[in-house]
Amino acid sequence: NYRCRSAFKLLEIDDKFNLFAPGQCVIDCGAAPGSWTQVAVQRVNANKKDAKKSVGQVIAIDRLPIYPIEGAKVLGNADFTSLSTHAKLTEMLSGTRVNVVLSDMAPNATGIREMDHENIVHLAYTALRFAVQVSQVGACVLLKIWDGRDTSKLEKDLARFYEHVKTVKPPASRTDSAEKFLLGRKFKGLKT
Ligand code: SAM
Repeated sequence: NYRCRSAFKLLEIDDKFNLFAPGQCVIDCGAAPGSWTQVAVQRVNANKKDAKKSVGQVIAIDRLPIYPIEGAKVLGNADFTSLSTHAKLTEMLSGTRVNVVLSDMAPNATGIREMDHENIVHLAYTALRFAVQVSQVGACVLLKIWDGRDTSKLEKDLARFYEHVKTVKPPASRTDSAEKFLLGRKFKGLKT
């Protein structure tokens, strides 16, 4: 039982692109009410349901409260655009490198298309910036956006850090017309 229908978008994307594997570490940004977290927990075996497979970990964060999700660590009431949230997350990770960063974050829509686009792209960039700092080479990132002027810039920036960049529109997302997802796969790592 998923907490909301958004779960199906992530299930469809994972079925097609295999983002998750048991044992992996996932950060879910903008996670409330928690259906993506539920999917991630199952797919990385963070709830230890499959005793034969390695056990992953999922950290869910949202600026709203998040009700506990079995198998996940939750950080509710935390604004992802604030650096103190990043510090808390880094502490929770205690050195573990991340395999998948998800952002289904969405700002409150104003109804002004350009402004909503700008706001969600800002959230996506915040997730991308965090992802490149905590991810392991080969990791992937999935960012929700509402299409607009800066989409291609974000795609280009993703391509600097990820070998494969794709725009994804899962069937379950049909009803959300402006919504799409940018998927970056095979994180190249930060050159030092
Ligand atoms: N993926 C979720 C699920 O399946 O249950 C649904 C996420 S909902 C579409 C978008 C979420 O982004 C909202 O819960 C909202 O509070 C969160 N959000 C928006 N701005 C945020 C921010 N600055 N920091 C953290 N979360 C944010």
